[in-house]
Amino acid sequence: MSLNYVNLRPYLLQTNVENKIIDESKQGEALLVKNASPGSGKKLFLESYGCQMNFSDSEIVASILIDKGYTTTQNFEEADLILVNTCAIRENAELRVRNRLNDFKRVKLRNPKALVGVLGCMAERLKSQLLEEEKLVDIVVGPDSYRDLPNLIEEAEDGRKAINVILSKEETYADLTPVRLGSNGVTAFISITRGCDNMCSFCVVPFTRGRERSRDPKSIIKEAKDAFDTGFREVTLLGQNVDSYIWSGGGLKKDILTPEQKAESVNFPKLLEMVAQINPDLRIRFSTSHPKDLTDEVIHTIAAHENICNYIHLPVQSGNSRILEMMNRGYSREWYLERIASIKRIIPGCGISMDIITGFCSETEEEHKDTLSLMEAVQYDFGYMFMYSERPKTLAERKYKDDVPENIKKRRLQEIVDLQRIHSGIRTKEGVGKTHRVLIEGFSKKSQDMLMGRNSENSVVVFPKGNHKKGEYVNVFTDRCTSSTLIGEAV
Ligand code: SAM
Ligand code: SF4
Repeated sequence: MSLNYVNLRPYLLQTNVENKIIDESKQGEALLVKNASPGSGKKLFLESYGCQMNFSDSEIVASILIDKGYTTTQNFEEADLILVNTCAIRENAELRVRNRLNDFKRVKLRNPKALVGVLGCMAERLKSQLLEEEKLVDIVVGPDSYRDLPNLIEEAEDGRKAINVILSKEETYADLTPVRLGSNGVTAFISITRGCDNMCSFCVVPFTRGRERSRDPKSIIKEAKDAFDTGFREVTLLGQNVDSYIWSGGGLKKDILTPEQKAESVNFPKLLEMVAQINPDLRIRFSTSHPKDLTDEVIHTIAAHENICNYIHLPVQSGNSRILEMMNRGYSREWYLERIASIKRIIPGCGISMDIITGFCSETEEEHKDTLSLMEAVQYDFGYMFMYSERPKTLAERKYKDDVPENIKKRRLQEIVDLQRIHSGIRTKEGVGKTHRVLIEGFSKKSQDMLMGRNSENSVVVFPKGNHKKGEYVNVFTDRCTSSTLIGEAV
């Protein structure tokens, strides 16, 4: 059994301070919709774990249930319906949810009619097993079945256990307007693809989120425009592999057969351009890019538009080609470094971050050193670093032995984290003595007299409030920094 939950959390906190893609401080955050009408009087407690895609999905779920008259609460003790949107990516993510379910037992003791539902990747992975193992769970819903939630709730209200884990080849929730929950009112997340076709050998996502589908660009543009009109100034386009976005009328991308159809379709750079043209004051970010699909066309599109941020999250997973092949990543060390060279050539100073898995099956000391040397070559701004956690039914579980001892995985992770801390410090220092265009996201964590925002490269910048406020762009000259934050004055 992997223990990396215990070990991992501090690493994430230390290395990704205030980063938005997997914000540890948001794990388990319950969503609250302000000014919702009293509706049916029923209260929904909706809590999310995992990646930003899950938080974005929860906004869809809330939209469906608010339509049915629910109001939200941040206190599960008073809820009629408790929903947990779950992650299955590593074993510890599931353990965390199992522990959390125990907390909800006392709600059922007080209010036997209260319902508990498990949504998302863990629901999809475990299916009815979850109902058998967790007696208090009434409803199990996979990521493609949220439209069915009102029916499933009715079923559960009638005393039956309710489950829908059917994966779809079409569902993108394109027509649903997500309620922007727990948001700072400045930055919003928009899903552009669902599922994943890549089958990396370590990864459970293709099993829990199904086949890759792209969303109609018209609905993406509408959602981004609506966000801008309601005061948002930054959108992050979300997908497991955004570079493989392709719209040619819906369905699975492999259904696009002819070259003519391909030429007429909307690919990722075209989509980026369309979103960038909404308004020069709307910033665009995206996540996640896949090294095998990140083309120069994408990089040139970023460079050509001031409002597409100079920042690319490009998970590498390992710096060794043999391990990358076993991981079924579809690229080698050399290919990855060539992509990095293109980014640095076309967008000098571009912010770059990564994901790395340490201690994958049969990884030797030399191969681990290859990861460290790749990090030296790239000098990432920051990263998400994990110990390998074997997941049931994945290719790696079936084919390879999880044979790197826990203490070695842990030590290698520590070396990677320590090196990243040095690189983050170097990259932050490079931003000192420069003027940065910052989008203000709110007060700094430490003081209400200071504001915080981000520059294009995704570095956090803090400065005295003056007359500035959230949602404004401001030029900040930075004269000092901490290890991960630039500090300065508005100019
Ligand atoms: N689609 C993205 C990609 O290809 O990079 C990210 C998907 S996943 C939600 C986020 C990260 O979790 C991965 O990049 C990988 O580093 C990590 N991860 C996935 N499966 C893992 C496993 N079995 N053990 C440890 N880390 C894992
Ligand atoms: Fe998982 Fe690989 Fe798909 Fe990312 S690209 S979600 S790591 S299978």
